[in-house]
Amino acid sequence: MGTSPQHTQAKASRQVAIGDVVFGGDQQPIISGPCSVEPGYVGHAEAAAAAGADVLRGCVFKPRSAPDRFQGMGAEGIPLLDEARRRTGLPIIAEPLDGDDVRLLRDHVDGFLIGARSMRNSRLLEAAGRAEKPIILKRSFAATYDEWLGAADYVRATGNDDVILCERGIRTFVTETRNTLDIAAVPVLASRTDLPVIIDPSHAAGRREWVLPLALAGAAVGAAGIIVESHPVPEQSWTDSCQALSTPELRDLIEQVRRLTSLRELSST
Ligand code: PEP
Ligand code: MN
Repeated sequence: MGTSPQHTQAKASRQVAIGDVVFGGDQQPIISGPCSVEPGYVGHAEAAAAAGADVLRGCVFKPRSAPDRFQGMGAEGIPLLDEARRRTGLPIIAEPLDGDDVRLLRDHVDGFLIGARSMRNSRLLEAAGRAEKPIILKRSFAATYDEWLGAADYVRATGNDDVILCERGIRTFVTETRNTLDIAAVPVLASRTDLPVIIDPSHAAGRREWVLPLALAGAAVGAAGIIVESHPVPEQSWTDSCQALSTPELRDLIEQVRRLTSLRELSST
């Protein structure tokens, strides 16, 4: 036995690709786009691509907290996903709310986003898992790590191990931010699972001025990537306008994250 300090042994990291963008490798890819697909989506996607995004958000079905709010463009928005993918050449992810959505989206997306409200929907997790696409699994508002990993196991039980976990903030007594970003999830889960963990600073912050610092915290702590909401005219965003980054703000965030990523690479060589 040597005298060196004992560290928790990190599990071997699994790499999960969305299109040709790898999560869990040396890079910390950025997923971006508006909160929801709107009629101007193709232009919004092109703006995110021009700012340097690696993967597009393309949510046509929106889980909302009340039925009188915009529920997304639905199936009508799917041709916009095809067009955005064709024009930017970037992979795209979208959120299914049920098994029907999985079938509708399957041939038009490169990966599925399972939202915080759906993390506990085991039937949806199984349907998404069987569709043989990579899955980003968001943590539910009050889920423990075990509950979150249990949800991932529902996907993995279908034979699909292409799961990326996403920390998006949890419910605490803090009311200034929309949710409390549990940054510890990244290092803690590195010792508990082989799955990459990304962070969503947008739904944690709830306000655009706090998105950049939280994104940088995620990059510094070793998150496998970042998913962030952006819109060319944030104030006009149909949903979550307070937290959307403008295109220059997104470009700045991406540049700053990349600088941190290269520092991490340098310090590990
Ligand atoms: C989203 O990312 O579109 C979303 C609805 O976020 P969450 O599920 O984390 O609330
Ligand atoms: Mn949103």
